[in-house]
Amino acid sequence: MQSVNWETFIFGNGTIDACYSNTALGFPCEQGSIPNIGVDAHSVEDVQAAVKFASSHDLRLVVKNTGHDYLGRSTARGSFLIWTHHLKNITYHETFVPAGAGPSTSHSNAITLGAGVQWYEAYDAVEAHGRILVGGLSARASVGAAGGWISGGGHSALSPSHGLGIDNALQFTVVVASGRHITANAHSHPDLFWALRGGGGGTFGVITSVTYQTHPSVPLVGAFFSGNFTSPETAKGVITEFIRIHPYLAGAGWGGYSFFDNSSLNAFYVALNTSWEAANATWLPFFDFARNASTDSPSPQTFTVPFDSFFSWYRALFSGGMQVGTNVYLGSRLIPTDLVESDHAKVTETLLAIDGVTSWHAIAGGEVSKRKASSAEGASAAVIDAAKVRLTSKVNKLEALVPGAGAYFNEAFPFEKNPQRTFFGHHYGRLRLIKLQYDPKGLFVVANGVGSEDWDPSLNCRR
Ligand SMILES: Cc1cc2nc3c(=O)[nH]c(=O)nc-3n(C[C@H](O)[C@H](O)[C@H](O)COP(=O)(O)OP(=O)(O)OC[C@H]3O[C@@H](n4cnc5c(N)ncnc54)[C@H](O)[C@@H]3O)c2cc1C
Repeated sequence: MQSVNWETFIFGNGTIDACYSNTALGFPCEQGSIPNIGVDAHSVEDVQAAVKFASSHDLRLVVKNTGHDYLGRSTARGSFLIWTHHLKNITYHETFVPAGAGPSTSHSNAITLGAGVQWYEAYDAVEAHGRILVGGLSARASVGAAGGWISGGGHSALSPSHGLGIDNALQFTVVVASGRHITANAHSHPDLFWALRGGGGGTFGVITSVTYQTHPSVPLVGAFFSGNFTSPETAKGVITEFIRIHPYLAGAGWGGYSFFDNSSLNAFYVALNTSWEAANATWLPFFDFARNASTDSPSPQTFTVPFDSFFSWYRALFSGGMQVGTNVYLGSRLIPTDLVESDHAKVTETLLAIDGVTSWHAIAGGEVSKRKASSAEGASAAVIDAAKVRLTSKVNKLEALVPGAGAYFNEAFPFEKNPQRTFFGHHYGRLRLIKLQYDPKGLFVVANGVGSEDWDPSLNCRR
């Protein structure tokens, strides 16, 4: 797992069962929450055989792709694993007709990605055709392009221009609990197609491929901001202004990522189909505001840079670094545009009152709103519990800011009080019915996922 805390298992009495990479700690290497046995699937047939095996032996089944999951959903103690990493097929379609659709429903320039394809491989593949994809962005683009990312919704810095991943998915192939390999799209199994687009990974079956709509590769502009502030009041003023302009940024197609606290703001944003002049007209007022507000030396570093394509922007920003082997719990909330519009000062104040760095993802608004559809290794259970308590209080502050708001299931707090409401909202009832239809025995269950409330916390026994 990328977040190695999910590899450990804590018994009720606080004893930890784990295999620490730090051998100097002197602990024996235990199994922890790593599955006992599994299938390294290289074909759809492997997946089908593994699903049938798990079903006939009543095994606690886990589906894992990259193991990037922040909620630990791709591992479980005592489980049987299906690993999809080696399903790496990629097919580019000049013309794509979804199964079951007439020839008049054709899409040009689509791409089918096997379940194990990672974003860096997908970006390379479409670049060869002069196209781009709405996809995940991280160091070396290692997130899976056709597993948990798309099952949770899939956001991207390009989402304000082209929607979420699920808005770009044309078709899935999936092995369901019976072992059947079926195609789900708007024409064939449309209910399952709907559920797979946001209903959560590891819940409805094993996705074996996803077909995406691609988009033309066009020049774009990147905007960058990096400022350190000795005065928390200055930081607050600059960040308040930064939050204030977000509805406008999203409407103009800007997406990106920023990180801030009481002493710094770092941001990198991108917009397709905009000229350098238009980008400067958007950003320079904020850059000037920040420089005028700051008495620090050096003053904030600000610039806009044109790139000839998404591919060169992504390669410049994301081709280095590594993000594995850390202990992470996240907490998050979706912040509605109207709250930012009506009270950006309150939003900023609340986020700055949460100690630590806030990661603010500007990946919604724009097209998205128009579419439907650490603790150290060796820490004791008490230290881990204390971290949970601290994070719960931070999440409670977000809940107070936006009561009843949702959270993005893929980047969320694993200990939400009401995961059904927080992750699925009013879609929950329909998702549950579709789950019952395709997985009546509850073979596919993940923590906090659709149907998980029927099971004990280990997801081994029905309540
Ligand atoms: C470094 C990093 C960067 C990220 N960047 C982004 C980003 O830019 N945008 C974004 O939206 N999210 C991002 N995320 C969150 C990411 O979407 C989730 O971590 C997601 O769950 C990863 O999916 P995966 O298939 O790669 O990982 P895994 O941990 O292998 O799987 C995650 C979940 O999906 C299920 N699953 C995996 N494969 C399948 C399959 N074939 N069929 C059915 N279920 C499956 C698993 O059972 C599990 O429940 C990022 C995460 C990390 C760690």
